[in-house]
This record gives sequence, C-alpha cells and structure tokens, in this order.
Amino acid sequence: MESSYTEPKHVRVLILGAGPAGLTAALYAARAELAPVVLTGTQIGGQAALTYTIENYPGFPEGVGGAELGERFQQQAERFGARIELDTAKQVDLSTRPFYVLTENGILYAAEALIIATGASPNHLNVPGEAELTGRGVSYCATCDGWFFKDRRVVVVGGGDSALEEGLFLTRFASQVAIIHRRDTLRAGPLLQKRALGNPKIQFLWNTIVTAIEGTGKVESIRIRHVQSGEERPYPTDGVFIFIGHTPNTHLFDGRLEMEEGYIKVDSRMRTSVPGVYAAGEVADRRYRQVITSAGMGAVAAIEATRFLEQKMD
Ligand code: NAP
Repeated sequence: MESSYTEPKHVRVLILGAGPAGLTAALYAARAELAPVVLTGTQIGGQAALTYTIENYPGFPEGVGGAELGERFQQQAERFGARIELDTAKQVDLSTRPFYVLTENGILYAAEALIIATGASPNHLNVPGEAELTGRGVSYCATCDGWFFKDRRVVVVGGGDSALEEGLFLTRFASQVAIIHRRDTLRAGPLLQKRALGNPKIQFLWNTIVTAIEGTGKVESIRIRHVQSGEERPYPTDGVFIFIGHTPNTHLFDGRLEMEEGYIKVDSRMRTSVPGVYAAGEVADRRYRQVITSAGMGAVAAIEATRFLEQKMD
C-alpha cells in the first residue's frame, strides 16, 4: 500500500461495488446505523443496470428496467444513510484491521469491516479485430448500443440466457439478428429459448464460432467457422454483440483472500478467509448470478458484518 497519503477516513463498513449485492448490503448496513460507504466502481447498478427489462425480480409483475431497479436500490440505501461515492478501489491491505483501501481518487479508507461486491465483467472472444472495433460495431451491451443498429444486421455470439435475452432485445432495432453458437444445444432456459426460436427476425448459426471481426473503421463482416466441417467463410454484419459469460472482478484480492475457481471463496454466511471481510454477488457466485440472489447475498453479508462489529469476533 502506498503510504504518501494523508489521514485515512475511518468507516465502520466499506462496500466495494454498487450492483444489487453492494447496494443491498448498503441498505442493511445503513439500517443497522453503521453509516456504510459504497465505492461504486465504474457501473452503478452493476450488470443489471445494463439490462433493458428484468422480469424475474419479485415485486415487479410487469418487469422493471434494469437501470430503474438500480436507482431504486440506491435511493433506498441512501434514505437510511448510506453514502455512495463515485470512486474505485485500486489497492487493498487486508493483513491487519482496520482494513485499508486506497481509491483511484487518492482517498485512503480504514474500514472495520469490508464487503466486496465488485461483480463480474463480460468475457471477450479474443479474436483478431475485436479490440480494435470495440465501440465501432463490437459491443458487450445491447441495451447501451442496440439503438445504433436500427434496420441493420447484427450477430450475437453465445448460447446462454444473456445471448438470447439481448438478441431478443436487439430485434426491436435490427433488421436481422443471427445468433452464433458453438454447439447445437442452447444453454439458455426454456422460456427464452422458446421466444428466440419463435422470433422471425432471429436465425441461429449452430456449431459455429467467430474467428475474426473485420472492417475499416467499423464492423463490416466477421469470419465464421463451422466446428464440424471446418468450413470457414465471411459473414457480412454491421454489429457484433458478444455474450459469452463473465469473469469475476477479483484481481485486487489475488493472494489476499482464498479463491475457488477464480471466485472469492465464501461460506454460507458470506465470510471470506479473512475475518471481517465478506463477499457477495457475482464476485463470489458462479452458480446462480441473478439479481435476487446477489441482493440476498448482499443482505447476508451486511447482517454478518453487523454481528461481527457488535461482537468483535467470529
Ligand atoms: P453463460 O450462461 O455462462 O453462457 C455463456 C454462453 O457463451 C454459453 O452458451 C457458452 O457456450 C458460450 N461461450 C462461452 N465461451 C465462449 C467462447 N469463447 N466462444 C463462443 N461461445 C462461448 O453466461 P450468460 O448467458 O451471461 O449468463 C450468466 C448467468 O446469468 C447465468 O447463470 C444465467 O442464467 C444468468 N442470466 C439470467 C438471465 C435471466 O434469468 N433472464 C438473463 C441473463 C443472464 P456453451 O453453452 O457451449 O458453454
């Protein structure tokens, strides 16, 4: 930890991340009168905020916009005294308590308890042209960028819930959506499968992978390969939306906390390998990854942090 910083700011509970897990933890810690501080990182509302409609969060029978749900989480946490800071943790020291967290804005926090809810980031295909054409036709967020593809042809890569949900969303704008999946069986749940397979604007390219993304200044085509025949050919498109899973944002904690398959290891009480440090949401969950489960983990983490601070044990 760099030491040229002035007085640390003492907080009882510091929460890293402002997705469903972090903001729910903030709500519970605020209601326990612990005046939590949330460092938002880059995305308030987390990945959920990038989702057009969330239809499986209870209490919203008609569905709710992802961004709106994130704002509601935030308002509710703030109402009880949580402080939301637009800042990102860049270094942590968990070797002694209080825990020290240094931010991008140069603020040093000394926290009695820490809740890590830094979420996960979208995986990249790592094919030629992807990095160069990101923002020029390559996207990882249909809600953010779909509008730019009105009456254009787009492809969606992936066969999970995200690929189908975002592919269906893109049919609002695009003239044609081709979903490219590396197998011939979808990973997505049956409801989304039914909707996507029945949508006249969506076609599926099965057993197919993308080997390159091409274009001068913007996406013009991709190269695709059939995994069984090995046949490779160009495929014209204006946009490439990539939804091939996520990687948990754990890099700050490598070597500081126990991990399990790349995720922060927690027990059923969201306790990490360091007493007083908790993790919640997709940074610690490779199985469920739902808004409701992340929020639930956030609540558990805050309740446990509260008990830890009251008892100074466990
Ligand atoms: P996911 O379930 O891990 O699916 C990723 C998809 O990408 C899979 O179909 C996978 O193929 C494919 N893939 C992975 N690496 C690839 C590569 N290098 N090249 C080509 N294809 C690749 O990820 P997700 O769809 O983002 O979903 C994540 C979690 O969020 C899941 O638990 C999901 O249920 C949840 N979610 C739920 C909803 C909802 O309930 N409405 C919406 C969105 C997400 P294989 O199938 O061959 O492995």
